[in-house]
Amino acid sequence: MEREKFRDSIATVDQQGKRSWVYPRKPAGRLYHYRQYVSYLLLAFLVASPFIKINGNQFLMFNVLERRFSIFGFTFWPQDFYIFVLIMIIGVVFIILFTVAFGRIFCGWICPQTIFMEMVFRRIEYWIEGDRGKQIKLDKQKWNAEKLRKKLMKWSIFFFISFLIANIFLAYLIGSDRLLLYVFGGPSAHLSTLLSLLIFTAVFYFVFAWFREQVCVIACPYGRLQGVLLDERSIVVAYDYQRGEKEKGRAKFKKNENRAATGKGDCIDCLQCVQVCPTGIDIRNGTQLECVNCTACIDACNTMMQAVDLPKGLIRYASEANIRKKEPFRFTARLKAYSAVLLILIGVLSGLLFLRSDIEANVLRLPGQLYQHRENGIISNVYTYKLINKTSLDYEDLQFRLLSHSGEIETIGNQFISVTSNSFSEGTLFVNISRKSLAKEKEKLEIGVYSNDHLIETTSVTFMGPRTYK
Ligand code: SF4
Ligand code: SF4
Repeated sequence: MEREKFRDSIATVDQQGKRSWVYPRKPAGRLYHYRQYVSYLLLAFLVASPFIKINGNQFLMFNVLERRFSIFGFTFWPQDFYIFVLIMIIGVVFIILFTVAFGRIFCGWICPQTIFMEMVFRRIEYWIEGDRGKQIKLDKQKWNAEKLRKKLMKWSIFFFISFLIANIFLAYLIGSDRLLLYVFGGPSAHLSTLLSLLIFTAVFYFVFAWFREQVCVIACPYGRLQGVLLDERSIVVAYDYQRGEKEKGRAKFKKNENRAATGKGDCIDCLQCVQVCPTGIDIRNGTQLECVNCTACIDACNTMMQAVDLPKGLIRYASEANIRKKEPFRFTARLKAYSAVLLILIGVLSGLLFLRSDIEANVLRLPGQLYQHRENGIISNVYTYKLINKTSLDYEDLQFRLLSHSGEIETIGNQFISVTSNSFSEGTLFVNISRKSLAKEKEKLEIGVYSNDHLIETTSVTFMGPRTYK
């Protein structure tokens, strides 16, 4: 269909398959100001998070190399991976729920790609090169001193900011303490880290200086999911075609004309919504996968509506059902189902976090060893143990005690084990039980880990003994 032709291609690639550079007009308006406040708040959060400590733990850290994560100050070890996976699943369900209800609102208001692109890099570009018209002119003109100065200035600032972002990224990855240590230790002492930093810098520079909206249009998996998540009741940034087109369609504005009487739509075909769009689309064609719901077109259109004395909201947050049938927002069955799943997952996560102990004990039988007879009818089994301290406190007096049977635990080395914060201690221990206390050849034992006479963790192991005892 001719009307749907725009869906066969993306706005940023021309007929020859070459990139069509987007020069969006500088946005302005109420929603843009709100987005600025939200963005600055989120930028501050993003920069500060790796440097905030809760009980000595980094507020947010994703050390994938050593498989150690810290979320809201809770440290997660590889053994806690199931909790980490659950948090990820909750995040995904939350985003899905949000997308079903509010479309790609996340992209426009919260996504770091949009925030950095629109609120940092693009603003610097406007500051150096000017608004849309001036940028187009500058790119078309031959290289001269002015163009060279502006471009060099822009590229240098972009590189510097990309380098800063790479440092923040590294602080999330390896921890802010280590990053600061490397920074103050000097680059020559940490050449491999410097190399990683420069690689990250190059990636960020490439994304924000050149790849830009292509991330949202062709690279981001979340953007691709939209097609299956949105329905006619999802609230998205939408053009009210009923009002904009009416019987005679959109038409340029003419002074003193009675638009209502002519049957022309409220859209005055000024193209402000198209020129301001950072992904280069025409929202009047309907919901498109390129739209990141940045609201720039809402502001642009409202300004025009105000100028020609027509009601605002020709482009607004609305659902297809709202525009077509004037239907208000409804909490649909799909939304209810997603919310229920989300609540259940949050409940399970809270339970797991509540039950999660500060010290985790793993006690395993030494492979290839059955049992030993000792003096006075004592049967002994040998185990290896690993005590993981997930807190920022140092423990110096950890001790194993047998809970389910009378007997004793003999730790090789010191009976009291010390484990410093966020680390682990491992070793070997013997469990010695009188033969008379054993009823079967294979018994399950409960072992407790004590600190200062307080039970802080329990674990169970299998104990092997001879076939007959009595
Ligand atoms: S269509 Fe509007 S909301 Fe969507 S990306 Fe373009 S300007 Fe932003
Ligand atoms: S800004 Fe509003 S009036 Fe102008 S073209 Fe877009 S929808 Fe029509």
